[in-house]
Amino acid sequence: MSKIKVAELFYSLQGEGQYLGTPSVFLRVFGCNFKCAGFGMPRGQLSEERMAIDPEKYNEYDKLPLVHTGCDSYASWDPRFKHLSPMMEISEIVDKMQELLPEGKFGPDKHLILTGGEPLLGWQRAYTELFEEIGNRDMNLTHITFETNGTQELKDGLKDWFVSNDYFPFLDITYSVS
Ligand code: SF4
Repeated sequence: MSKIKVAELFYSLQGEGQYLGTPSVFLRVFGCNFKCAGFGMPRGQLSEERMAIDPEKYNEYDKLPLVHTGCDSYASWDPRFKHLSPMMEISEIVDKMQELLPEGKFGPDKHLILTGGEPLLGWQRAYTELFEEIGNRDMNLTHITFETNGTQELKDGLKDWFVSNDYFPFLDITYSVS
């Protein structure tokens, strides 16, 4: 069974976009092809704020301090923090999703959000297995959002699976690009 390096897996309300306020399971995967450092900075300057955080002082991702400049998801791609993102088997991930979801199911009013980092890097190869495990457990998945930086194409394996899978005939997919 495939594994995914998971920075965070939690249940919360979508905080942005057209599905603002929708209860959702967030799967934040590790890795990004960017190192955005300009947020909150005067034009042209790059934030070094995350570099002042000592990774050795933390053993849980959600205990890390927030930053006010640069990428606010820094620990989902900066290798200094990779020890906080365990490799999890697909079955473990779906077990946790079932624990998080009321009655263990998605549904039209409970979405799955794949975020990062950049969720459409190499982990794409594991997503069909992830979705099939969710389907095998009859969890009524109806909506997936990919929160992506928009630089990655869907690989053929995932694209073809979305077109022809027998698990979710009415699956909605949103690409939230920013
Ligand atoms: S997670 Fe998003 S904001 Fe952060 S470095 Fe990657 S693309 Fe930039």
